[in-house]
Amino acid sequence: MSKFWSPFVKTLVPYVPGEQPKLTKLVKLNTNENPYGPSPKALEAMRAELNDDLRLYPDPNGDLLKQAVAEYYGVQTGQVFVGNGSDEVLAHIFHGLFQQDLPLLFPDISYSFYPVYCGLYGIEHVLVPLDEQFQIRAADYARPNGGIIFPNPNAPTGCVLALDAVEQMLKASPDSVVVVDEAYIDFGGQTAISLVDRYPNLLVTQTLSKSRSLAGLRVGLAVGHPDLIEALERVKNSFNSYPLDRMAIVGAAAAFNDKAYFQQTCKAVIDSREHLVAKLQQRGFEVLPSAANFIFTRHPQQDAAGIAAKVREKGVIVRHFKQERIAQFLRISIGTPEQNQALLDAL
Ligand code: PMP
Repeated sequence: MSKFWSPFVKTLVPYVPGEQPKLTKLVKLNTNENPYGPSPKALEAMRAELNDDLRLYPDPNGDLLKQAVAEYYGVQTGQVFVGNGSDEVLAHIFHGLFQQDLPLLFPDISYSFYPVYCGLYGIEHVLVPLDEQFQIRAADYARPNGGIIFPNPNAPTGCVLALDAVEQMLKASPDSVVVVDEAYIDFGGQTAISLVDRYPNLLVTQTLSKSRSLAGLRVGLAVGHPDLIEALERVKNSFNSYPLDRMAIVGAAAAFNDKAYFQQTCKAVIDSREHLVAKLQQRGFEVLPSAANFIFTRHPQQDAAGIAAKVREKGVIVRHFKQERIAQFLRISIGTPEQNQALLDAL
């Protein structure tokens, strides 16, 4: 603390990201990165962009990327917003759409950045408990609200909500914005982007950090009605006109255009997940059904924090959350078959 701080800074409770260890030998299964590299075409596009043009500012609108996303999903470019990671996109959503008279709703167990943004932007929120099976129950959100947000698949549970349940939520709250945070959708869920033309209150966010293996590049996006997108553009252009640099724009666009590599790596992660789940179940672990590139698991007899500490001693990092309801769970990112085997050996 310092007397120089703006008073509200003293009240902030910042997000704590998963550890990025300096030791490169560790098997890193703690932050849901993709174990495979980005598309070679994305790397090639970025290398070609490393030239004297870096003296010039990038396109403030990131149009090349918006076009690639619009084409991929069959929407208009005016329905697409792009930003510096989906975290930044989410920040603009909280700032530009969720400061309402009624409270924002999100699940009690979900992405731990949501309450942080509520703190940053002074947004009142209500936590809606997951059911006993750790599932989101759409009917529980049919109550007065100033907005709804949830990850689908949910994080850190990995459980996916079917599209008709998402639609039920959109119908029940036609006067508020419903944000579906699809950071992990490509590993087994069905995107709600197919619904944006029918529901002007729907906004879908995605990231290139997971299924397109570009966490280090920082690119995220939102798709929805042009009026919602315009709110985000207004906030963005009042904050940072150039959130995406020249490399990010061309690299992300090339990644979207390389469908074959994307499909191949997503399938490899999904196959690897199913194999790991089976092996963990053989060892007595309970695993929640996952449609993500991570699993959420507990052992009926072994303490989760203890397991995390023990496997770390053997060079494997997984994520443990201290939150009471999930304190006996571990979140394990899906690695290559070799990395998963290292985890099983450590266990
Ligand atoms: N949403 C969810 C549910 C996440 O788990 C993450 C990753 N921490 C993000 C959004 C943000 O991802 P990024 O900023 O890398 O796009």
